[in-house]
Amino acid sequence: MKNLMDYTMPMLEDYLVTLGEKKFKGTQIYEWLYQKREYNFANFSNVGKNVLAHLQNDFSLDFIKIVKVLEGPLVKKFLFQLADGEKVEAVLMQHDYGLSVCVSSQVGCNMTCAFCESGRLKKKRDLATYEMVQQILLIEEYVQARIARVVIMGIGEPFDNYDNVINFVKIINHPKGLAIGSRHITISTCGIIPKIKEFSDLDWQVNLAISLHAPNNELRNYLMPVNKVYNLDSLLDTIKAYIKKTNRRVTIEYVMLNMVNDKEEDAEELARILQGMNVYVNLIPYNETANIGFKRSSKERIDKFFNILKKHKINVTIRKEFGGNIKAACGQLRSESD
Ligand code: SAH
Repeated sequence: MKNLMDYTMPMLEDYLVTLGEKKFKGTQIYEWLYQKREYNFANFSNVGKNVLAHLQNDFSLDFIKIVKVLEGPLVKKFLFQLADGEKVEAVLMQHDYGLSVCVSSQVGCNMTCAFCESGRLKKKRDLATYEMVQQILLIEEYVQARIARVVIMGIGEPFDNYDNVINFVKIINHPKGLAIGSRHITISTCGIIPKIKEFSDLDWQVNLAISLHAPNNELRNYLMPVNKVYNLDSLLDTIKAYIKKTNRRVTIEYVMLNMVNDKEEDAEELARILQGMNVYVNLIPYNETANIGFKRSSKERIDKFFNILKKHKINVTIRKEFGGNIKAACGQLRSESD
């Protein structure tokens, strides 16, 4: 059975029309779900008997469950259990501008990036749209506060679960849904080119982040096997086309791995390939994990890398760290709970 939170507004309106009902009832249903947070169909008092009977028959409103919360000063990490027993995680971060949540899009991941904990656990399945929506609903309920920003950077490759992720964005972005503005939503991908193109065609204001992590094919092939399918040159062309089409600045993520991709010549090469593009580079201090041998670059090496990019007039920031000491980093909580 479908979960009602899998449905975007147009899907819900189409459904209502097939019942011989008016489209505006879609708005009423969204108000129950996402504003009043009422999850018992029987209490949808204004939708009418016909709609109610069909909703009860056609949809469930089952919830995923929070099974563990780790709390740090500015960060909370949530482990969720899904209906089939699988687990995923999400991270809540307190910024000066408000709360942001990093959500997971798959159970495991097939991209097998060499440094990433999530990829050690092969993808078991995609998350359904409702399983992503509910990560946010449950966190909002837990902290009794509104989430201002969402990044799809948890476990999984969002563009390997494209349709469900796009529907998720439609629901959280909808004014009668969670009303999170497009510019406050970010999708991060390891570079699945056909899906980046499809996403460009939507011409949305949603932010796109690309996990680049290497300035040439040799190094990128080693760190990110996806590069053997979608290589760096085609990826850069695709990003350029995206920027041209949407006029949006793209975030380039670059995880800093000691003595692997953090050399001065890597910074020079990165500056060269990004020259003239409307991008900003986010240098990510690597979160070391017991299971993988990579080490985090020292503060000095990160600063040096940063300064080389600056010198070449590349916009660059160093990612603020939240979760390191509570295992908030990248798949570690789920990995330990198995
Ligand atoms: N699959 C998507 C989104 C999930 S990963 C993607 O590749 O973008 C989110 C980001 O965290 C990616 O840039 C990923 O490379 C990075 N990452 C993975 N493991 C990490 C670790 N241990 N420390 C720091 N960043 C990590």
